[in-house]
Amino acid sequence: SPALARAESLIRSVPDYPEPGILFRDITPLLADREALQATTEALVAPFRGAFDVVAGIEARGFILAGAAAIEAGTGFVPIRKAGKLPLPAASVDYALEYGTATIEMHDDLPAGARILLIDDVLATGGTLAAGRRIVEELGYTVAGISVLFEIDGLGGRDVVGDVHTVFHS
Ligand code: IMP
Repeated sequence: SPALARAESLIRSVPDYPEPGILFRDITPLLADREALQATTEALVAPFRGAFDVVAGIEARGFILAGAAAIEAGTGFVPIRKAGKLPLPAASVDYALEYGTATIEMHDDLPAGARILLIDDVLATGGTLAAGRRIVEELGYTVAGISVLFEIDGLGGRDVVGDVHTVFHS
């Protein structure tokens, strides 16, 4: 659609951020645009409509898109946060970064078996979303789908995460 094409054109590539040699995909111009935000939110939700009970987003940019998707779909929203940010974490999952490790945490306030649509902004190596899938399953919930705004091709993220829907890719 023209709105999605416009949205894609609003993803900015910033060389050497946050470190030399990294090409950072910056979605903030897309988020700032009413039409682009609406179209991408719809595209994130579309394949899974009616098949999930709640949307979970991964800190921090995943919160923005997951919150928008929850409103779009008429569901609630659940945060998956970096360690130490949630008052009552019910599960913790460690995962590897390029240098070092990270930990994500989640509450368990959903009904048993809740079907979760998991959303993040960018899929790179896949470590973050694979950890997201693990923490959801560790709590006994079901991953109804994984949806990402932008997939960086050639990093193998898709193989690590499993079934993932991406709206744009490099
Ligand atoms: P992965 O775990 O290697 O797939 O990296 C994905 C995570 O890092 C996501 O939570 C993204 O928000 C973030 N990320 C990695 N590369 C980029 C980028 O180019 N732009 C914005 N976020 C990125």
